[in-house]
Amino acid sequence: MLRDFELDMPADLQETLACLPGGTPLAGGTNLLVDLRARRESAERLVWLGNIDAFRDIKIEDGQAAIGGGTTVGDILRHPGMERAAPALVDCARVFGGQMVRNQATLAGNVCSGSPAADSVPPLLSLDAELCLASATQVRTIALDDFYTGFKKNRRSPDELVTGISWPVPGPNTANRFYKLARRKGDAITVVGVAVTVTRDGNTCTDARIALGAVAPTVFRAKEAEALIIGETLTEERVDEAAQKAKELSDPIDDLRASADYRRDMVQVLTRRLLNQAWQSLGEKEAGR
Ligand SMILES: Cc1cc2nc3c(=O)[nH]c(=O)nc-3n(C[C@H](O)[C@H](O)[C@H](O)COP(=O)(O)OP(=O)(O)OC[C@H]3O[C@@H](n4cnc5c(N)ncnc54)[C@H](O)[C@@H]3O)c2cc1C
Repeated sequence: MLRDFELDMPADLQETLACLPGGTPLAGGTNLLVDLRARRESAERLVWLGNIDAFRDIKIEDGQAAIGGGTTVGDILRHPGMERAAPALVDCARVFGGQMVRNQATLAGNVCSGSPAADSVPPLLSLDAELCLASATQVRTIALDDFYTGFKKNRRSPDELVTGISWPVPGPNTANRFYKLARRKGDAITVVGVAVTVTRDGNTCTDARIALGAVAPTVFRAKEAEALIIGETLTEERVDEAAQKAKELSDPIDDLRASADYRRDMVQVLTRRLLNQAWQSLGEKEAGR
């Protein structure tokens, strides 16, 4: 049974921020209400975010994409510019929950839930995203890469709200992909999630990001694997080395969905596959095919 709680319904951002000390933000509720019902969460006062003006705005201009803190997974799917601005995020949105969840679930809620299996986090890390955090007294930005400090722990203070997420739009020489491995296509918790970004100039990989989900206490970037391919031609051997390193950096658990060994193996398989796909697609583009 859902226990009783107080619900604040502030009219705008300033009122919302004033309610936050002592209150817990309620966005789509697809984590929070489920956790309250299951008694994994004990918040007594919730602050509804649904009245904040422009909280679902999406802007793509001057090489930057920025989404408001209330943007839902469904909003990502419906926005015509997202395929170009965030291909991996669109890959993720397509396999995120079911239709009803996609219509409610926000990206900020997904990021703040801090689950290692939060599906939007590998794509956002692969895009080098930043979070905008606002409190009643200050506004600051933090790289998503610096946000998590441990399992379900992050650097947001209780009086702060994620008011936006932004990232540089990948250029024409950059490929960005995500794959979610789960036991079925929809409404399934991720067994392994991998997102990659590869930038290609001729035969050289000039930049790369590899983000891994559900294989450690937090989603993380496999930076030592990235270092093995930056400045290199992505031959089969180089890609194998990077995929092997990503596997070594993973520290998954055994649970009812998969064994730790299987997860590690799948990190290797998926990292290799996505890097190859990204590299080849850029080669074909360059060759005009
Ligand atoms: C049936 C079902 C299927 C699901 N499928 C998936 C899936 O495929 N992939 C996946 O990753 N997740 C999935 N989830 C989990 C959930 O839907 C997501 O994590 C979702 O993105 C959470 O967003 P929300 O808006 O519902 O957040 P809420 O539940 O409202 O909040 C989650 C947490 O974030 C905090 N929060 C919310 N917004 C902000 C903000 N702007 N600033 C600061 N803190 C904030 C809240 O206080 C709370 O702690 C599923 C859940 C259900 C019930």
